[in-house]
Amino acid sequence: MNALTLNQVTFRYGKRLALDGVTLTIDAGETVILLGPNGAGKTTLFSLITGLFAPDEGQIEIDGQPLANTSNALAPLGIVFQAQTLDLDLSVEQNLLYFCDLRGIPRAVAKPRIDEALERMHLGDRRKDKIRNLNGGHRRRVEIARATLHEPTFLLLDEPTVGLDIPTRKDLISYLHNIPSQENCAVLWATHLVDEINDDDRVLILHKGKIQRDGLAHQLVSESNATDLAGVMQEVMDQS
Ligand code: ATP
Repeated sequence: MNALTLNQVTFRYGKRLALDGVTLTIDAGETVILLGPNGAGKTTLFSLITGLFAPDEGQIEIDGQPLANTSNALAPLGIVFQAQTLDLDLSVEQNLLYFCDLRGIPRAVAKPRIDEALERMHLGDRRKDKIRNLNGGHRRRVEIARATLHEPTFLLLDEPTVGLDIPTRKDLISYLHNIPSQENCAVLWATHLVDEINDDDRVLILHKGKIQRDGLAHQLVSESNATDLAGVMQEVMDQS
């Protein structure tokens, strides 16, 4: 089953066309990187997938469930937005428990899952710290840990490495590349940074509201006149 299906999705802000007939599928457990310059339509796409806006045209399905007419269609989704959404005055553990309570996860189930998620994100020794006392990289890791606590089958990450220092970014990128093999969870990860992408990652290049390329990074390079993915991006921007 597909984790995500978009069929001819179009969205306008007033007269401004932000997404123009976007069609794509993401398989269960697949990681896909959504690459696009500022203004390409990445945030708009995420707003539609999370049900914040409804498409003007087209359909969206998550795990085979149409978003438009299923009240619990968002249940399999884990989300890390660009803006930080943790409570600064609660501890790491309290933030995670609060999320589990909201999702209706019983404490007996929540506690071992929190232990595991903190372990995976190398945050075990920070669990009692208030978010206010963590740096940006640690806060981001708490958000990613939180987004996996209800065991989503599809994780959306909107530019998760923005504002992080280089070592933290490197750590996080390698963790994000390993999510599907560890947890059988599909991932859609938006970025405008080509250096976050491995040769064998599937990449969607979004520009001017359209998917301009869809393929493995090394294939996109070999099918172009460019020598690397940055060159492919440039080619796309010059052509469209
Ligand atoms: P960034 O990386 O800068 O966040 P993005 O790829 O997420 O860019 P969007 O924010 O989705 O792009 O914007 C897509 C297009 O829609 C752009 O042309 C943008 O100017 C326009 N847009 C976005 N939000 C609004 C809004 N609230 N009202 C009008 N136009 C908007």
